[in-house]
Amino acid sequence: MTREYEVIIGMEVHAQLLTKSKMFCGCSADYADAPPNTHVCPVCMALPGALPVINKAAVEATIRTGLALNCEIAEFSVFARKNYFYPDLPKGYQISQYELPLTYNGWVEIEGDDGQPKRIRIRRAHLEEDTGKLVHVNGHSLVDLNRAGVPLLEIVTEADIRSAEEAHRYLTKLRTILRYLGVSTADMEKGAMRCEANLSIRPKGQKEFGTKVEIKNLNSFKAVRDAIAYEVQRQIEVLESGGTIEQVTLGWDAARGRTFVQRSKEYAHDYRYFPEPDLLPLEIPREWVEELRATLPELPDAKIERFGREYGLSRKEAGIVVEDKEVADWYEAAVRAYGNAREVYNWLTGEVFRHLNEANIPISAMRVTPEGLAELLRLVDKGTINRNTAKSVLQEMFETGKSAQAIVDEKGLAQVSDEDALVAIVEQVIADNPDEVRRYREGKKGLFGWFVGQVMKATRGKANPAVVRKLLEERLNT
Ligand SMILES: [Zn+2]
Repeated sequence: MTREYEVIIGMEVHAQLLTKSKMFCGCSADYADAPPNTHVCPVCMALPGALPVINKAAVEATIRTGLALNCEIAEFSVFARKNYFYPDLPKGYQISQYELPLTYNGWVEIEGDDGQPKRIRIRRAHLEEDTGKLVHVNGHSLVDLNRAGVPLLEIVTEADIRSAEEAHRYLTKLRTILRYLGVSTADMEKGAMRCEANLSIRPKGQKEFGTKVEIKNLNSFKAVRDAIAYEVQRQIEVLESGGTIEQVTLGWDAARGRTFVQRSKEYAHDYRYFPEPDLLPLEIPREWVEELRATLPELPDAKIERFGREYGLSRKEAGIVVEDKEVADWYEAAVRAYGNAREVYNWLTGEVFRHLNEANIPISAMRVTPEGLAELLRLVDKGTINRNTAKSVLQEMFETGKSAQAIVDEKGLAQVSDEDALVAIVEQVIADNPDEVRRYREGKKGLFGWFVGQVMKATRGKANPAVVRKLLEERLNT
């Protein structure tokens, strides 16, 4: 018999900060399209005698993030050397933070697996520098130091996450917050946000923790969810067959859909942290913290609550709109332009999202404006076009950027509501289908929709369905 297991997960996320220059030198941090080793200087190449200078914008971004994550902000914070050797780390150490991080003791609220709000505690969010990159070409390994020294925010949770789904929701929420703050693109696919999970399982009711493994190389949201789900299942099978879990660092092979051992415990690092002697400790005045707090935007949780209050959306519905700030702004603009928040929600999350998904573009690249959607919906309200026509008009607005009215005029899509114009067509459909009329009158009432469809087809979808129904009822039911 399989026992029930509890899954215990903590996450570690590294997010590159969107500063103009690097963490400790004046090199541009925007290296994405630059040739290798062109965004470098004596500091980030670690030439002898070069001294680091703290980037104030990175400290500000970290404090603002800490505040958004409900963290305490240290009054006194120290940078530390994390010593290890790797070819992409020319100094032989990374400047990070250890005992005295900039921010700590916060929380992020997510939806728990039971559907209730759940807090994931944040142990710390501290500042460090990124490493360079190794590029492997034709059996040679080349070093590119453009990325070396780019500011990195490391955000560590307590082990409060209980499933792959909760891990996924936590990451999604964290990404949303970082993007609202404008401190990081948080783009996992481009390496601007990287993620590791610490995971263990134990039989339900057992006090001691199980053996913890670390999963690295999780470079997409899907990878995080898949790797955790895989590893949980693997560990249950090991324990159920009487085996033991080894304390190892694992990688994720997305192609094969499984974890693999990267290194075992014997090679665990001892980083020999000590305070960075080339940098003074940071003293953070409370007035500065309050100044930065005043720069925080309306954050996702507050926006979800307001959308419920002002627009009547449920938490879940508001969450869908709020996840991307540009979508939330678009929604609010459309509600202002049109008035009916529910109707805008339905069109946005239905038709508009479908077009965005199919075209695989963000809402900022879409040609349909909030005012454009409002105009389209008013044409439906006035009876100029029916809802089905409105959907195809929206599709054309999406493809061409033309206004709803222009498309309706150009294509002669205005709906026919005039009874006199429709009577002849309705009577023709009835005359052409004597069998269906007989079966309908004998009680096969489901055929009514088929008759409506025939009339709509004959008018190329332009007939006002309400008028068609009325005319059909009058003629079929007598
Ligand atoms: Zn530099």
